[in-house]
Amino acid sequence: MRFTQLLIPTSKEAPSDAVLASHIYLMRAGYIQSVGSGLYNFLPLGKRVLDNVRRVAKEELDRAGCQEVDLSFVTPVSLWKESGRFEKYGKELLRFKDRKNNDFVLGPTHEEMMVNMVSQTVRSYKQLPINLYQIKTKFRDEIRPRFGLMRGREFLMKDGYSFASSEDGMKADFDLMEKTYSRIFKRLGLNYRIVEADSGAIGGSASKEFMVIADSGEDTIVICDNCEYAANIEAAKRAMVACDADEPEISISSKFQTIDIKSIDDLSAFFHVDPYYLIKTVAKKALYDGGESKIVLFALRGSDELEETKACNSIDANELVDINEEELRIAGLVAGYMGPSNLSEEIIVVYDEGLRDGRSLICGANEENYHFVGYDLRGVEVTYKDLVAVQSGDGCPKCNGKLKHTKGIEVGHIFQLGTKYSSALKAEFLDENGKSKPFMMGTYGIGISRLLAAIIEQNHDDRGCIWTKESSPFAVHIIISNIKKEEELEAGEELYSDLRSRGIEVLLDDRKERFGFKIKDFELIGVPLAVVVGKNLTDGKMEIITRDGLDKVEIKSSDVLDEILRRLS
Ligand code: ATP
Ligand code: MG
Repeated sequence: MRFTQLLIPTSKEAPSDAVLASHIYLMRAGYIQSVGSGLYNFLPLGKRVLDNVRRVAKEELDRAGCQEVDLSFVTPVSLWKESGRFEKYGKELLRFKDRKNNDFVLGPTHEEMMVNMVSQTVRSYKQLPINLYQIKTKFRDEIRPRFGLMRGREFLMKDGYSFASSEDGMKADFDLMEKTYSRIFKRLGLNYRIVEADSGAIGGSASKEFMVIADSGEDTIVICDNCEYAANIEAAKRAMVACDADEPEISISSKFQTIDIKSIDDLSAFFHVDPYYLIKTVAKKALYDGGESKIVLFALRGSDELEETKACNSIDANELVDINEEELRIAGLVAGYMGPSNLSEEIIVVYDEGLRDGRSLICGANEENYHFVGYDLRGVEVTYKDLVAVQSGDGCPKCNGKLKHTKGIEVGHIFQLGTKYSSALKAEFLDENGKSKPFMMGTYGIGISRLLAAIIEQNHDDRGCIWTKESSPFAVHIIISNIKKEEELEAGEELYSDLRSRGIEVLLDDRKERFGFKIKDFELIGVPLAVVVGKNLTDGKMEIITRDGLDKVEIKSSDVLDEILRRLS
């Protein structure tokens, strides 16, 4: 295509709210345009990349036997109520009424719709397994849309759903999707890692995320320096922690005056004990369906930190929010002196697994200026859950290695659902014995539009984008240095049509602009390969530039076509 005919509004100005390279360059190079918070228009270049990513995903999914469908974006609220997600999904759901006063939701994901569709069309085990997907706009009214395409409100997602007649069938579907996703991200040229993920309130370990490794990632992932273990911090485990420090000698359990001693550090210094023997208590308000809320205390060792997603799952809540001073006071809690014992019955207490059967512990006495010394959990019936945030340096749960933190961008998520939605929506099939059973499901998502941002986060320099081979809007960018020079124009045009006749996507910069200006645009747009048709044409030569590293080589004009074909193959 010709630059003169394309809408490519490149600019020097970065949007004022943009901090990430991908956001800045995708806007500056004219790939996308902002319309409002979390809303973007895709301009011709952006649409080309989006279509490339979509094509790679589609080719691999079709190869794996999945079938593409396209479900209505506007979805009836009744399905969301039946599945029980109407409230759980909270304010991310964009709800509205039609002229007849019926309630609808703009689909943020399509489990309900897909289950409903399949239950009306699949009746027998003979029709299973089946794996359906769509690549479709989603809307989530995100609380903090940011980072350009990374976290939009309207975005393009590939969402897929598998239906099997048995648990083994579901696992086979899941494994196939793991392999298929790996092929997709590999073809897109990404450095990614598959990590164990939070499975929400459903539990189990049958949820994995595909993380593109990038410092700008919003997710913290925990990886082992010795084995393959990798997990999102929301799901990460660690080897049991032992404490080298001596256990405090406590002769009798008693209340102890601790005036103004509130923090773990102060308590540790005051009592001369390792934080391991202190109980850290975090108070939160848990929100449930129907506006119900409960006060929850999470108790863990003073040497540990609370992981909020784990905490939220441990009590099956929709959300955890901070508790204000007034609410603390009404609950009889005193900041700095909270502890798990001696509480009103309405308050729920969850203990971290690391405290199981703990003894000689020190905790708040739920009374201003007092702590309780000699707290003992042996033989006491309490609820233990995994609540801790794994730290760098903790031991790997699988081997002797050390864990460390790194950052990742979640580009895909695969999940074994079991019968969660099929049971709720009464979606059943008849098995070999003519018995009705709910489908065993899996759900699989890819952030198609987020991938544009992820690719650039991993592939850019201080001049602009560097697209990977399969994602790039064009394979080759031809720059005619000075279109007023007839021989340059002619040679550029000839190479353009030679490449195009071989089915290669080419961008021809045929603008009446200065050479330096055109080169800057090439660097900003980021096509992997450029050919400069310029001054040295008089010596029978052209220049080939590799965008990654900006390496330049001069080549005999007559060899340029072959050289490019060689590099693209
Ligand atoms: P996140 O934790 O980033 O909000 P999620 O767990 O809500 O993601 P899923 O519901 O699993 O995401 O959606 C499937 C995929 O869709 C994600 O892996 C991600 O790549 C993409 N995605 C989710 N939310 C957004 C968004 N707001 N903007 C762009 N892509 C998104
Ligand atoms: Mg989300």
